Amino acid sequence: AAKKHGGGTFSFFSEELRRELEHRKQLERDIAAAIAHDAFSVYFQPQVSLTNGSIAGVEALVRWHHPERGMISPGEFIPIAEKAGDMPRIGRIVMRKAIQEAASWYRTGIQFGRLAVNVSGTELREPDFTRFLFAMLEDAGLPPQKLSLEIVESVILDDEKTGIASKLRMIRAAGVHLELDDFGTGYASLTHVNPNEIDRLKIDRRFVQNINLNDDNSKIVRAITELARGLGISIIAEGAETEEELSSLLSIGCDQVQGYSIAFPMPDTQAREWLEARSPRRPVLTLVDGARA
Ligand code: C2E
Ligand code: MG
Ligand code: MG
Ligand code: MG
Repeated sequence: AAKKHGGGTFSFFSEELRRELEHRKQLERDIAAAIAHDAFSVYFQPQVSLTNGSIAGVEALVRWHHPERGMISPGEFIPIAEKAGDMPRIGRIVMRKAIQEAASWYRTGIQFGRLAVNVSGTELREPDFTRFLFAMLEDAGLPPQKLSLEIVESVILDDEKTGIASKLRMIRAAGVHLELDDFGTGYASLTHVNPNEIDRLKIDRRFVQNINLNDDNSKIVRAITELARGLGISIIAEGAETEEELSSLLSIGCDQVQGYSIAFPMPDTQAREWLEARSPRRPVLTLVDGARA
């Protein structure tokens, strides 16, 4: 709570701070209620290969529809949830929903490449994260090879101290892919990119934006792409919004992309339709679909 100034002196700043704190407190309460009432949902955004059009993956992104305020972006509520210690629980809700959805695609022969789920440091630090993850995959019937975890550079750097490294090794040994999200924005140097630990780099949107016009961005993406190719690591550009950005990425040789130019993040029903429309179906499913049509 804000300190009281002697004599009830009005201060613009303390009033603003008081409101800000009140707002945070309210959001914290709303987040707790949203967990209790299952108000978090998951959207899915496709990732494609530019050269052959195949689906490389689908990223799961948490969504919160607030009863009064409408959609609140993860950028706004995740930092508050992290501080309040609620992120591990929200992360598990997202992980469960995303894995169940991907398992249903998998069962029906819908091609989706790999499901990519964002995992924060606090989630990874939970002692039973690995056990929880494997149980979730097994219950849903999704092979570990169909899952990828997106982790930001700072968490990888944290490794040594927190024992996250050995956890990640175990997870990866089971077949789950690991990728560095928002690559280029953190503190990791290129020496942290080890092909024995990382399967894919996600080039941050800030380098992808206007890559067709911005020479620096184009040089950075080219360097990251060549590094990755040399090391045998996959790369993907995130946040490609225009045709022009796509053709620049293609000419640089950055094959995988994700962004509004391909598809927006979509709720499960819509994502399924999007994927289905592009899936070569197994023969048995042609019959099922024929019966439904
Ligand atoms: P991110 O993992 O880098 O996800 C990509 C973000 O870029 C998403 O924002 C996505 O909607 C947005 N995006 C995709 N294509 C475009 C584009 O062409 N243009 C622009 N301007 N934006 C694009 P979103 O969904 O708001 O998520 C923001 C961040 O919140 C994510 O960044 C991720 O760090 C975090 N986040 C989202 N869902 C989860 C989750 O379930 N768990 C955790 N731990 N973090 C999450
Ligand atoms: Mg991500
Ligand atoms: Mg990212
Ligand atoms: Mg990003």
